[in-house]
Amino acid sequence: MRCAPSVTPHDFELDALREKYRHERDKRLRREGTAQYVHVTTDMPDFWEADPYSPPVVRDPVAADIDVAIIGGGFAGLLAGAYLKKAGVKDVRIIEMGGDFGGAWYWNRYPGIQCDNESYCYIPMLEELGYMPSRRFVDGVEIYGHCRNMGEHFGLYDGALFGTMIRSMIWEEATRRWTIKTNQDDELRARFVIMATGPWSKPKLPGIPGLASFRGHMFHSARWDYGYTGGGPGDPVLDKLADKRVAVIGTGATAIQIVPILGQYAKHLTVFQRTPSAVDHRRNDPTDPEWAASLKPGWQRERQENFYVFSGEPFPSKAAEEDQTCDFFTEVGRNVSGRVAAAGRELSIEELVAIREEEDYATMERIRRRTDEIVKNPETAEALKPYYRYMCKRPCSSNDYLPAFNRPNVTLVDVSASKGVERVTEKGLVANGKDYEVDCIIFASGFEISAQDQKVASGIEAIDGRGGLSLYDHWSEGYRTLHGMSSHGFPGLFFTGFTQGGLSTSVTAMYEQQGEHIAYIIAETMKRGAATVEATQEAQDQWVSTIRELAPPDTFLQECTPGYYNNEGGGHGGIRAAVGEPYAPGFYKFGDLIAQWRDRNDLSGMTLIP
Ligand SMILES: Cc1cc2nc3c(=O)[nH]c(=O)nc-3n(C[C@H](O)[C@H](O)[C@H](O)COP(=O)(O)OP(=O)(O)OC[C@H]3O[C@@H](n4cnc5c(N)ncnc54)[C@H](O)[C@@H]3O)c2cc1C
Repeated sequence: MRCAPSVTPHDFELDALREKYRHERDKRLRREGTAQYVHVTTDMPDFWEADPYSPPVVRDPVAADIDVAIIGGGFAGLLAGAYLKKAGVKDVRIIEMGGDFGGAWYWNRYPGIQCDNESYCYIPMLEELGYMPSRRFVDGVEIYGHCRNMGEHFGLYDGALFGTMIRSMIWEEATRRWTIKTNQDDELRARFVIMATGPWSKPKLPGIPGLASFRGHMFHSARWDYGYTGGGPGDPVLDKLADKRVAVIGTGATAIQIVPILGQYAKHLTVFQRTPSAVDHRRNDPTDPEWAASLKPGWQRERQENFYVFSGEPFPSKAAEEDQTCDFFTEVGRNVSGRVAAAGRELSIEELVAIREEEDYATMERIRRRTDEIVKNPETAEALKPYYRYMCKRPCSSNDYLPAFNRPNVTLVDVSASKGVERVTEKGLVANGKDYEVDCIIFASGFEISAQDQKVASGIEAIDGRGGLSLYDHWSEGYRTLHGMSSHGFPGLFFTGFTQGGLSTSVTAMYEQQGEHIAYIIAETMKRGAATVEATQEAQDQWVSTIRELAPPDTFLQECTPGYYNNEGGGHGGIRAAVGEPYAPGFYKFGDLIAQWRDRNDLSGMTLIP
């Protein structure tokens, strides 16, 4: 069945809603910006470094000269490793603080965990590994399994160091290598290093006064304590919570998945909400074998591109194309595309902007009215309605989240007016002047993703390039890169993630693009007999200018409700700190640009170091 534009309400006052959005944003803005959160430090190991899933690694320190070190074994590291192997680079070591590959999917094992955007796009290399996800949105266990398969398939377990945390990386001019030191007293000397430490890797906590005084149990959703709750990964029977009063702090993508299950098992669940997520119906059908058998080679890349067109492009360029994903993620794009096609003429940019805004408001209005239909208590329903534009927060879908608030044992506490929970006491929490006694606090408060806090996020104390230049200092005023992946003064060092490159709505596509490009550069450098390679100052300056000249105004993010997408409304690192400085013409345009660069095969803008 063809995916038609959705039916959305248009009987609203745009100006009044604009005003309401502004009011709701201002209510939540905090002057401290990202400083409102607490950095998890080494004296809080349970929140980050201690691994609840694998025994501590006991081994002798490794001292070795290697070609490539990849720091982080999530999808970014795995994809870089896969492309290196495909390019013929053999000596690759992944170093990972967790006990296995998987990254986010190793650490996050909370009950109900699934991917947010559909698996057919999100899980990378499906065709290459001959794997078809079991349903549209698969469970975390299945994604973790795929990560392990990637590790096996590409031989990445060979030489991998798990349970190992990188502490410092220092460039040594004499040997043309990076000296990498770890918490296991390893000393690796690598010609090339790929940073794949992940922007959603380190849990963060809300800076609520009194946190340490709580006498009950606390944990972050990314370090789920099944010993306390009962159940296990893929077995969400939280039977030990039957006599427990549980509090959840945070209502983002994680909370949407855990709240229904906690509501089912806890004696009482109190959900503290600053900003509601937009939650739509989740169409999570099992994979149709007939459909799977009908797919032609190249289908995944085509589907990923199609997903990007409808979820990432402001004015979908392929108006005539069908939206293959056909869900909330792509709805605004699909509806804009339908309007553009129906106009039957070239529209001016002003007309396009107006259509985009109206369709965005209409979709969000549909979501708000849906909330009214599901949630019985009108006050709770009102508090659960998202008043901001689509994509100000991650779009969510769940068939169980909103109904959970109809349960007698589930309470929503809206803390938007006081900009958060007031304080934690020995026995629980205080919000809006009222005490809530609880046995357990679960933080679904997200991750350190601000680019400006990379040192905090990766736990790597020093990344020092030529002449002792610290990468953290070098980037303190913003990124300085060539194509977002390398920086002058840091030979052989490569970056993945949100820097100055293509921004994709399904991040694994971005990691694949980066992995392929970095692998090409490394393989080519080795083929040409050089020790390593470095971006030139001129090429880097040119790229930074290109990125900034093309950057659109930040109006959209400025007007968004505070959250990680807009760096909590600005503050240190600016409004875009979380998603870096994307290449404005678009993700696949960036892919074309770097593919053409590779086709020229001259490594232009890079210097080979003998
Ligand atoms: C529950 C959940 C659901 C998600 N769903 C989606 C989705 O549907 N679509 C989407 O696009 N994105 C989603 N994301 C975002 C997700 O994080 C990315 O899709 C992706 O898995 C991140 O991969 P990564 O390799 O960049 O980072 P990670 O997976 O976080 O891997 C980084 C690894 O680096 C390791 N590391 C960090 N510092 C060090 C150090 N100093 N030394 C050694 N190792 C270190 C960490 O232990 C970690 O394992 C989701 C995230 C979460 C948490």
